Amino acid sequence: MSIHRATFVQINLDLFKNNLKAINALTDPDVKLLAVVKADAYGHGALPCAQAALEAGADWLGVGIIEEGIELRNEGVTAPLLILTGVLPDEIDDLIQQRLSTVVFTPAIVETLAQRARLRDTSVGVHVKVDTGMGRLGVLPKDFLPLLKSIQKHKSLRLEGITTHFSSADEPDPEYTQFQIKRFKMLLSESNLSVNPRPLVHCANSSAIIRFKDSVFDMVRPGLILYGALPSPHLKPFLAPGFNLSPVMQWKTRIIQINRLPEGSSISYGRRYMTSQESLIATLPLGYADGLSRKLSNRMKVLVGGQLVPQVGTICMDMCLVDISSVPTARVGDEVILLGKQGDQEILSENMAEWAETIPYEIFCGISKRVPRVYCD
Ligand SMILES: *Cc1c(COP(=O)(O)O)cnc(C)c1O
Repeated sequence: MSIHRATFVQINLDLFKNNLKAINALTDPDVKLLAVVKADAYGHGALPCAQAALEAGADWLGVGIIEEGIELRNEGVTAPLLILTGVLPDEIDDLIQQRLSTVVFTPAIVETLAQRARLRDTSVGVHVKVDTGMGRLGVLPKDFLPLLKSIQKHKSLRLEGITTHFSSADEPDPEYTQFQIKRFKMLLSESNLSVNPRPLVHCANSSAIIRFKDSVFDMVRPGLILYGALPSPHLKPFLAPGFNLSPVMQWKTRIIQINRLPEGSSISYGRRYMTSQESLIATLPLGYADGLSRKLSNRMKVLVGGQLVPQVGTICMDMCLVDISSVPTARVGDEVILLGKQGDQEILSENMAEWAETIPYEIFCGISKRVPRVYCD
């Protein structure tokens, strides 16, 4: 079956690579880059993005869960690969067999990993994750040194990294991130790292790369900015001069029907929109089953004929409606842009996120499997 679906996303891997190179250029040449390709590369396709990232100079790949790591290994990706949420005991054999690395944060998992690797006469790469204030995953600062020492005792564990994660690097107030950086630095100096090879110290996510230069140690971990979106509008003033990100994804569909409806017509389920005058209403073949959140109903805009037009009425599972009264030349089959450029107008994931009262991350991850990913470069 070839893909005929009118609704698809188009991924430009050249733009992805350009973003990665531009991010790499923000840091010293010896600073490594771990490209975060979790959640199917934020909906952009894990394998094509992982390959493109490595071609563009990424040193490591990061995924959310072990299944994502196994999938990339099965597709032939051999680069160092870090499981960012860690593993449970029953996942350890796969971890070792697939030569994946994991974050660790409890004595129990450290001991189990060490023992299982020893049984297989091999070693496994670990990154100690410290909770410097995210309150989510990681060893608490007071337990950090003992955990580190226990790892160094085991020949079957390779201490590859020391890491933490920021809770608020995208917020306007820098104070808490600065506190986390300070705490992290203090732990690093107490740990007196003289092991050879020295583990990679890393903590900067997209926001920290842009705003907190002193959060950049041996490696950075960009996710969202690789895909050409900013975590938050607050970061705009901190972008380095000449640093440009390009949105990698365009989301497109086509008009399947156009109706001329009289004033006072109700549109879609629940009659949550009424035409206030005679209107041209176009039906689009995508809905919440494609990841177009119902929350966007009566709030989002799309591009038709190079013009922004409002979406109207409740978004359905497979369809939604737009008012194209301002584009009377539009015809069935015409291209409609949900994310991306048309004429001199552009809709960014950041715009859609604002309409849905969420963040660009959730917009990207929400685009469902049913929407074909089409690659171009
Ligand atoms: C997702 C994630 C990142 C990347 O975050 P962005 O904000 O997308 O740059 C970095 N580190 C960890 C541990 C993550 O889970």
